[in-house]
Amino acid sequence: MVGAACAYHCTSAGLRVTVVERGAIGGATTAACEGNILLSDKEPGAELELALLSSRLWARTAQALGAERLEYQEKGGVMVAASPATADGLRKLTAVQRAAGIDAVDVSRDEVTGLEPNITPEVAAGAYYPQDCQVQPVLATARLLRHAREHGATVLPGTAVTGFVRDSRGAVTGVRTDSATAPLIPAGRVVNAAGTWGGELAGLAGVPLPILPRKGFILVTEPLPRVVRHKVYTAEYVANVASGDAGLQTSVVVEGTRAGTVLIGASRERVGFDRSVSLPVLRRLAAQAIGVFPFLAEVALLRSYLGFRPYCPDHLPVIGADPRAPGLLHACGHEGAGIGLSAATGHLIAQVITGAAPDLDLAPFRPERFEETTV
Ligand SMILES: Cc1cc2nc3c(=O)[nH]c(=O)nc-3n(C[C@H](O)[C@H](O)[C@H](O)COP(=O)(O)OP(=O)(O)OC[C@H]3O[C@@H](n4cnc5c(N)ncnc54)[C@H](O)[C@@H]3O)c2cc1C
Repeated sequence: MVGAACAYHCTSAGLRVTVVERGAIGGATTAACEGNILLSDKEPGAELELALLSSRLWARTAQALGAERLEYQEKGGVMVAASPATADGLRKLTAVQRAAGIDAVDVSRDEVTGLEPNITPEVAAGAYYPQDCQVQPVLATARLLRHAREHGATVLPGTAVTGFVRDSRGAVTGVRTDSATAPLIPAGRVVNAAGTWGGELAGLAGVPLPILPRKGFILVTEPLPRVVRHKVYTAEYVANVASGDAGLQTSVVVEGTRAGTVLIGASRERVGFDRSVSLPVLRRLAAQAIGVFPFLAEVALLRSYLGFRPYCPDHLPVIGADPRAPGLLHACGHEGAGIGLSAATGHLIAQVITGAAPDLDLAPFRPERFEETTV
């Protein structure tokens, strides 16, 4: 998704682009997520600024390419608090979020039921976030790349970057690949959009980036009529997203899709690239979802899937030029928000490359920040 957004915004800015993807288009973490474009789970700070910009740019992109074609939906989010104490915490969060520019509406228990008629009666209060949106991430990736190709980009799936080309002063001037037909691709700039493998790719250029996998499971139910109308999650979700704990965390997120299936997430744990399926984690997610939507107890699961979020220790992505390797830029490490944040990331990368003043201060996202803090 992030590489496709970079290609979309760079070609739109008149740049010549080659996208190099070692697997299938949109086949990695982008194929293993839910596709939400969220403001509701963001606390004030650099990530929220990026998310606000991205939300505006996604709306513009949906208008330009056709919302239907991306399955872009302004579905809105509902956060629920089960107890009066959690409701108090949620009210404080929404007040801070409103001050930071998010449209966060405090809603009563009855209003929550009006928004979500099938929700448990065990709700104390909630918050409604009309700006929360969704896309179908693989479809959106393909559509952005199609647009980039129509504007002159070359897309090379099944082609892995194996190294970087440097000039006599050490500047990056292209990439080496495992392709017999394009073993060397010269470039004025190279953008590292390798997601969870962004650290590995940066390592090939001799620059460290501490991007680690943060595993997550999603459950998918059988197709149902429209029983869940918004993205619905519990107030604990925001704390879990912001946590740096390596241990297992689950906080329920439930939402319907256009196909009728209901997606149930999400777990978070740092266990490397361990692809094993954990029945206890799936059970916990299911039990938490039934706690919010009791009717789910009678619904069959179709499947589950898992992915590895690209996690940075400070929960911020890496965006911008790397002074340690001139010519190399990064656009990776977006953890659990890479779909939402991709539009702003691609736009900012295009601004940096074309020499335009970036719409946001990129300092919080600078690639060399991890070395500065460990020295
Ligand atoms: C369970 C779960 C739920 C999530 N829900 C959401 C959500 O609702 N909203 C949201 O915004 N985010 C969500 N995320 C996070 C989101 O999926 C990621 O942040 C996003 O997909 C990252 O996109 P990306 O393009 O950076 O990475 P990827 O999609 O992983 O793309 C990176 C690409 O780089 C390629 N690559 C790697 N190394 C090389 C190489 N050497 N040469 C060539 N190609 C290479 C890979 O093959 C891959 O296709 C979720 C994640 C998980 C796991």
